[in-house]
Amino acid sequence: MSQVPAAQAPAENPWENALEQFQTVAERLGLDAGMRDVLSHCEREFTVNFPVHMDDGSIRVFTGHRVHHNEARGPLKGGLRYSLGVTLDEVKALAMWMTWKCAVAGLPYGGAKGGVVVDPRALSERELERLTRRFTAEIGILIGPDEDIPAPDMGTDARVMAWIMDTYSMMHGHTAPAVVTGKPVTVGGSSGRLEATGRGVLFVTQEACRERGMALEGATVAVQGFGNVGSVAAKLLDDAGAKVVAASDSGGGIYRGDGLGDIDELLARKREAGCLPDVHPGDHITNEELLELPVDILVPAAIEGQIHGGNAGRVRAKLIVEGANGPTTPEADRILQEKGVYVVPDILANAGGVIVSYFEWVQDLQSFFWEEAEVNQRLERIIKRAFAEVTAEHQRHDGTTLREAAYMLAVGRVVEATRVRGIFP
Ligand code: NAD
Repeated sequence: MSQVPAAQAPAENPWENALEQFQTVAERLGLDAGMRDVLSHCEREFTVNFPVHMDDGSIRVFTGHRVHHNEARGPLKGGLRYSLGVTLDEVKALAMWMTWKCAVAGLPYGGAKGGVVVDPRALSERELERLTRRFTAEIGILIGPDEDIPAPDMGTDARVMAWIMDTYSMMHGHTAPAVVTGKPVTVGGSSGRLEATGRGVLFVTQEACRERGMALEGATVAVQGFGNVGSVAAKLLDDAGAKVVAASDSGGGIYRGDGLGDIDELLARKREAGCLPDVHPGDHITNEELLELPVDILVPAAIEGQIHGGNAGRVRAKLIVEGANGPTTPEADRILQEKGVYVVPDILANAGGVIVSYFEWVQDLQSFFWEEAEVNQRLERIIKRAFAEVTAEHQRHDGTTLREAAYMLAVGRVVEATRVRGIFP
């Protein structure tokens, strides 16, 4: 079995960054010590080590995590990541960010996340299915339509969600489509879910351009990460008149000042060849160089910690729209703020995925499915409302970043729910 190179591990600890972001806002909101303590812990951290039969007859043990950060606002919701870079601290950070993201979008969910330490490209389809089904059984005591509803994240997709749904259904003796979102449409998935995160990135980019007095038409764009989020965002931004000049994946990046051309065609060729630098005659660049290109808009859509204290000073984009979770460290945030770069934070910018996941869950619970146009219209309404609420909060508080404004709104909502519910017993 060929081992594909690991995605580069983030240089900083995402959990420490998530805590620092929270503490900054807790200070601004004047939260008391008890509430800070509640919100700076994850409610449950579950680690499993489980065996899987490989195709060659051997047995391998894999490690996975499922973490619940806070369920004050409703059942827990969060993606499942397959990557060699997965750590418990990464999953905890991603779970906390989910709590704030659901709150900022006004969804009735708390934040969760899961991950398995594995390179999915190094497994056969049958091995991936066995791993997914066994992991589902291992975390079976945590998940359920009313408890914790996983969804795709890096390294997982609709096919993985279908296996989770089927395994959970077999364990419970009835089909339970609402246990996961991001499923294929044939088994209860929602129209528009596959493109939802990238479509949300488009909507917030439109709003951010309007807010900053920038034209999206003709604006140059660089996209780091060309998976679900990055490729759909690139395609929709291109369709909206922007010029995508650079893109990258874990194999490296490509750059053409006059534009990368047809994004669908690029994606099709990437699928055949495996990684972007192998399919494009344009100038090859590294992922680090992509972040420092002289573009109008930068969309980091890969992993955490990519824009940090060491390179933020060299970022030349005017607008950063965070398709990925946690791509900018707190130190980089301070540098970007000084430089006047407008950063639309992850908990707002990539909320399109969980918004349409919420629609999928509602449709599954009602067994009543919507047309794609209706899904996209509702997504646009909710994410633009969230953007307006965050910018209003930003204007009310001088000297804050847009991230701090989004956090103030989100943390305030979670605090309110915690107070109203009270502490059991
Ligand atoms: P994906 O697996 O579909 O794609 C990830 C892409 O990032 C791939 O092109 C991969 O090659 C690239 N990549 C990995 N490591 C890299 C590195 N070190 N440098 C450059 N590129 C690298 O994953 P996705 O679902 O598109 O998720 C991307 C990001 O968006 C993650 O941070 C994820 O948490 C976040 N996100 C995803 C969703 C969703 O609905 N899928 C929703 C919200 C946020």
